Amino acid sequence: MSMTPYVRPAIGEMAGYTPGFQPPRGSRMIKLNTNENPYPPSPAVAAAIRKAAENYERLRLYPDPVSSRLRQTAAEIYGVTAEQVMAGNGSDDLIRILLDTFVDPGEQVGFFDPSYSLYPVLTQIRGANSKAFAFDPATPESVVTTTGIKLFFLTSPHAPYGLGFSNHYIKTIADQLDGILVVDEAYADFAEESALSLLDKCPNLVVTRTFSKSYSLAAMRVGLAFAAPMLIAEMDKTRDSYNLDLLAQEAATAALLDQAYLEEIVARIKKMREEFNQQLTEKKFTSYPSRSNFIFTIPPAGYQAGDLYQYLQQHRILVRYFSTPPLDQGIRITIGTPEQMEQVLNVINQFLSEKGN
Ligand code: PMP
Repeated sequence: MSMTPYVRPAIGEMAGYTPGFQPPRGSRMIKLNTNENPYPPSPAVAAAIRKAAENYERLRLYPDPVSSRLRQTAAEIYGVTAEQVMAGNGSDDLIRILLDTFVDPGEQVGFFDPSYSLYPVLTQIRGANSKAFAFDPATPESVVTTTGIKLFFLTSPHAPYGLGFSNHYIKTIADQLDGILVVDEAYADFAEESALSLLDKCPNLVVTRTFSKSYSLAAMRVGLAFAAPMLIAEMDKTRDSYNLDLLAQEAATAALLDQAYLEEIVARIKKMREEFNQQLTEKKFTSYPSRSNFIFTIPPAGYQAGDLYQYLQQHRILVRYFSTPPLDQGIRITIGTPEQMEQVLNVINQFLSEKGN
């Protein structure tokens, strides 16, 4: 409860979102806790930012309010029209825009629990009600009753378990929903399937993407939403007029134009993911098959995930541990470089031999 009488009750009562820990610059931690990319962005991004810096006098002017070049480039790459694309200041910005556009205070917003923990926070800020559906990773494509739900967030691939959902399942949910289905594809570049191909078939579908993971641009804060032009036009009314700064627009456009680089680093991460998963299995860890750039893994019987999390941190390896059940059973490890993952495995080996009963 808040100590100040001035605040809205919905805000005073909430805890707020807690992002994954960001160690201070210069820290020598191996950072595998917020699903960032271990590789730098495309060299074309550096060139674009350098060019913008050379023309720094442009900074006195506002940026393009509708991110035209970025949206046009995205449209060409993803095979849609620019009217089907909105750019956001990170996909978090798009999540807020979606709630402001499609959900009234008091209405219901659906999502799986666990999934991305920002959904209930932004729902509460909107004054809407969260309807959480228990997610069991053993039966991921379970039936949900969507009556009365104005907007449903489906994280696909799922976070934090990493599991993928089939387009068949996604279409079933879109068809039975009276409201908007948002497929949050933050990790889709690491998966085999994308709901973008359903846009023509599902008029109530919005697909969101981020540049923070596969494109290695978390610091620039860029996301994209794809939907029917009619939905994008409505969302445009609730967007900040200049929601993407100039450098973000330039960097994201350059990153999009270098698809060969994207493919190369995504392939490296996927290969490492499979090798790392295999090595965890050999150590009797239980992991879910991941279509993302992270693995949710449960240590063998007799070991506590919370202890492993702390042990890794003491050895300068940062991973994500969620202390609320059922996620407290495991830890989520972002896939890093081969050298980083070797280091993780070494420390896990040490943990297993030191902490064994
Ligand atoms: N959706 C999911 C499922 C995520 O895990 C994240 C990253 N925390 C986001 C959206 C937010 O991405 P962005 O950096 O583009 O705001």
